[in-house]
Amino acid sequence: MEFLKTLGIEAHQAGCATGSAWNDTTGESIEVTSPADGAKIGTVRQAAESEYETVLKTAREAFLHWRSLPAPHRGEIIRQIGLRVRDYKEPLGSLIAYEMGKPLEEALGEVQEMIDICDFAAGLSRMLSGSTLYSERPRHRFYEQYHPLGIVGIITAFNFPVAVWAWNAVIAAVCGDVTVWKPSSKAPLSAIAAQKILGPVLKENDLPEGIFSLLVGRGSVIGEAMLQDPRISLISFTGSVPAGRHAAEVVARRLGKTLLELGGNNAIIVTEHANLELAVPAIVFGAVGTSGQRCTTTRRLIIHDAIYDRIKEALQKAYQTVRIGSPLDPRNHMGPLVDREAAAAFTRALDACRQQGGRVLFGGTGLTGKGYESGCYVSPAIMEVLNDTPIVQEETFAPILYLIRYAGELSEAIALHNGVRQGLSSAIFTDNVQEAEVFLSQEGSDCGIANVNIGTSGAEIGGAFGGEKETGGGREAGSDAWKTYMRRQTVTINYGTELPLAQGIRFDI
Ligand code: NAD
Repeated sequence: MEFLKTLGIEAHQAGCATGSAWNDTTGESIEVTSPADGAKIGTVRQAAESEYETVLKTAREAFLHWRSLPAPHRGEIIRQIGLRVRDYKEPLGSLIAYEMGKPLEEALGEVQEMIDICDFAAGLSRMLSGSTLYSERPRHRFYEQYHPLGIVGIITAFNFPVAVWAWNAVIAAVCGDVTVWKPSSKAPLSAIAAQKILGPVLKENDLPEGIFSLLVGRGSVIGEAMLQDPRISLISFTGSVPAGRHAAEVVARRLGKTLLELGGNNAIIVTEHANLELAVPAIVFGAVGTSGQRCTTTRRLIIHDAIYDRIKEALQKAYQTVRIGSPLDPRNHMGPLVDREAAAAFTRALDACRQQGGRVLFGGTGLTGKGYESGCYVSPAIMEVLNDTPIVQEETFAPILYLIRYAGELSEAIALHNGVRQGLSSAIFTDNVQEAEVFLSQEGSDCGIANVNIGTSGAEIGGAFGGEKETGGGREAGSDAWKTYMRRQTVTINYGTELPLAQGIRFDI
């Protein structure tokens, strides 16, 4: 395929790089197939322990150089990387779509996020700041400053195979850190393509190897080595709650830092004052976008009794118009799930839901026939359930939308909304300002993201991104999320000729 050639992806691709240099790998090879048509795209030779060691040593040396560059110089490199990503937006978007199945339009949006975060990071490199405080002691200067952490390990999920890395890596880079990236083995080629785009920029600027490294490898081998390695100051982990819990426990044992971006169970409240012209398309995009495989996917809909039947009918009608097919065909709204196992998990969740009292209102079957030969395509499901149904409490990473009814006050809807273990994204549709403000208040949504009259997915990079409760509490991307990638230092300078002690303590000697 032309885009593979443009991106320099080889049929037998090494999965380990330290910048522009690609290392030989000794781990087992994985075959990468497309969920779009089941065709083999290529093989990747994964990294093993010995390559891991080389990468870590190279990264450590690179850090000693990179941290000494002024932050705006580092920002200039990121600016150039952003420009280079612009040149490859179409082919990289096509590869993402073909490798993991999201529609081309959404894949291009993902590449745009990489570009946007590079622009943000370039500006941020001139705005990293500390704070000056007034000392209680005369002739003393008192301030806080931030220094780079060192090596940041980035472990990413399959569903945003390049954007999540960029959110972390380019912010960490302007902060003066070097990064080691372990992408998901379900979408390694997109990661390899991103590395191939940035590598030449590093070389053109005569930078040493080790500033941005890539290690494609098994979670249980490379991922585990990263979690346990005290040379890695921060592990940014994006993935499911069970894997993230494990990562947090292992890193905590060595008292390392983690930034956790784990699963969501996102809901939209639709009140009787909602504008349905806005609500219905937002719900459909939130529920079927990326085939329900976004961490911010709309999974639960909490609808006021007065409009429940209208919404139900409108959604059933809208779902009939969702075009499902090849992610590379721009006319399609929804592509396949990432693999056959994900399609099987979709079916298992729906079986469980039915057994637990749920009722199918739409879809919920695997698709077969022409265009669907890969076995990864499904018809998105709408289910009618109660919020405390066990399967509703879990994040099934598939297009299943649960309809839940509330009859009384908004507080009842908010209790249902918050009545899950996860806390990533949330939304309310209402034209009533009191309802909107209560939802956003301390009595309202308990999530890291709260929206009014827009859906749960599709965050902008300028704000800090992340969630509460089992979602892990981490924040990445914009705003002041950069502070996670730096260590804080409180400084006191005495420029006087006396030695006064804090709290007025006297110590005469
Ligand atoms: P996953 O948990 O299966 O894998 C995530 C990453 O962890 C992969 O790179 C995997 O190889 C690695 N891993 C697995 N075991 C490991 C181990 N023992 N040590 C170290 N690394 C290990 O998740 P997935 O199926 O790729 O992605 C889907 C999940 O990610 C969903 O739960 C989704 O909500 C979540 N997600 C969250 C966010 C967010 O920002 N909150 C963003 C994207 C995805």
